[in-house]
Amino acid sequence: MTIGPDTVLDAALVAQPRAMRTIERLLDEGRCHAMLLSGAMGSGPTAAALRIAQRTLCPNGGDDDCDVCGRVARHVHPDLMWVAPEGNDLAKQQIDDIVETTIRMPFEGVAQVVVLERADSLSFDNRSAGNTLLKSLEEPEGRVVFVLLATSPARILPTIRSRCVEVVFPAIPDAHLVEALRISGVDEGTVAAATGMDLHGIARAARGDLARAHEIAAGDTAAQRRGDLLVGMHQVAAGSMAPSQLANRIMSRAGAASDAAAALASAEFDEMELVMSDREKKTFNAKTNDDGREKRTSRRARKARVAELHACLAELSGWWRDVLALANGTEVAVTNVDRIDQTRAAAASPAGTRAVAALDAIDDAASRLHFNNADEGVTIGALTAELAALAAGRIRARRTLGAGARTPQGYELSLG
Ligand SMILES: [Zn+2]
Repeated sequence: MTIGPDTVLDAALVAQPRAMRTIERLLDEGRCHAMLLSGAMGSGPTAAALRIAQRTLCPNGGDDDCDVCGRVARHVHPDLMWVAPEGNDLAKQQIDDIVETTIRMPFEGVAQVVVLERADSLSFDNRSAGNTLLKSLEEPEGRVVFVLLATSPARILPTIRSRCVEVVFPAIPDAHLVEALRISGVDEGTVAAATGMDLHGIARAARGDLARAHEIAAGDTAAQRRGDLLVGMHQVAAGSMAPSQLANRIMSRAGAASDAAAALASAEFDEMELVMSDREKKTFNAKTNDDGREKRTSRRARKARVAELHACLAELSGWWRDVLALANGTEVAVTNVDRIDQTRAAAASPAGTRAVAALDAIDDAASRLHFNNADEGVTIGALTAELAALAAGRIRARRTLGAGARTPQGYELSLG
């Protein structure tokens, strides 16, 4: 199923009425030099960024039937720079390019719009890129609208964050998700046949994220991943699958995502080379060139790999959160309602009293992967082993030394 930009926008309007109203008001008042839209990316910020660009660049104030609005929606308007990191973080070079472009006059309209995905990567660890952007934010040209998108806004350099008007997109309530799925034409009968869930079940499983709800309803990657991981985690917890098998499953998903991204990059770069002179081609293919083919391909492959790993960890978290909810008797909080019988069994086992520790372990693994300094295979392997041990009641929570300072070796062995 393909979802056009219009449906995405309509769905965001339905799902996030308050945030979208705030944005319309900021635009009306002309207070939109720098906006920070925070929340899960599937919960509306991306659609809102599109809306801001259309309102700013369209001569008719963003009526989305016109040619300008159409080109903005397809990201092919010359006054719209939509920048996403090629690797994990926005690179200094990308910010330099933005600064250079925004110094010039707009091509067509009266303004330029810069949308920065993963703006939370402009953190203390990536200060030089952040400081470069800061200069542009400090000297408002009046003609540039910056839209920063971030899942974890707290990571952003405070000097940048304080210069932005922040609009928060909270997790979308289930009822709004169901409504948003309906208005974008999702057919309940087809979905039920494909997924075994009604729209409410899908909304729960999507955990407030509209993009994820669409993916699950469509039965594609997200739905397959969810099935793979929830079944795998259940089997590991029940002792019918080795934790290393679950780790392999995760690593092979990550490998496939990485290969797919590399193939996509390769096709794109082949096309770019068609119009290059021999000399340009030589530079582009130089192995040492940071902007060259090889390094860019590997950055993109790594980004896809890490994103898949994080998505897999999110599924494992979902399983354990359900166990925790059932162990605490709060069945309404269960997200994967189609698997509730399995998680109920787990909640009644030792896993029920270890769910918080398991969620901690998953969070730890996620932050190690995020900060680039962990071997992925080792991290995932150690995590699945730890989760298996927790589920079987072989260990209690590891000793915690305070946030961010836990050691993987700090287990407390349970003799009971
Ligand atoms: Zn328009």
